[in-house]
Amino acid sequence: MIHEILPVGLLQCNCSIFGDEASHEAVVIDPGDDISAILAIIAKHEMKVKAIVITHAHIDHIGGAAKLKTATGAPVYMNANDQELYDRLDVQASWLQVPTPSQTNVDVNAREGQTTIELGPAEFLVLETPGHTQGSISLWIPAENKLIAGDTLFRDSIGRTDLPGGDHRQILRSIHDKLLPLDDEVVVIPGHGPNTTMGRERRSNPFLRGL
Ligand SMILES: [Zn+2]
Repeated sequence: MIHEILPVGLLQCNCSIFGDEASHEAVVIDPGDDISAILAIIAKHEMKVKAIVITHAHIDHIGGAAKLKTATGAPVYMNANDQELYDRLDVQASWLQVPTPSQTNVDVNAREGQTTIELGPAEFLVLETPGHTQGSISLWIPAENKLIAGDTLFRDSIGRTDLPGGDHRQILRSIHDKLLPLDDEVVVIPGHGPNTTMGRERRSNPFLRGL
């Protein structure tokens, strides 16, 4: 499996590009910005994007979704509980003092237990992990032993909950119920910053102490 992680945009959101060598299909997660750089990686591997997945509707994660959908024709997956946030992309843009990006329709409501994206032999499973936003999801890829954590879990930290839709107790519950059951060896790719593992965070993330 090809996996490239590209920090994009002002806030350096980690965009993950997964590709299956046999089928030349790709899944792009959190194309917040820098769509030309994302498309260059897709072209380098001669891949076709089959799905665009959004972990949550903050502008740094979803800002380039419309542009990437136009360029590739791939459907956009997002949890519907973040639609309200996506509808206020102009307000989010004003916080960052950047122009409002174009918007698109979400094609698939990404729901835990209902939405699975297949890429070659691998399955991408949706875990609903609300708290950073009401529609925050993580993606669990058992065949790769990887978790795409969005802004729910970071190396040594967790997602902020002081923005509209944030809930501190809820993010802790999501981490406890959905992420902590994963094995120590699982590689965590957070929405920002360096990768980590579940074992490392279990041991040394101060926010997980006592969970
Ligand atoms: Zn966020």
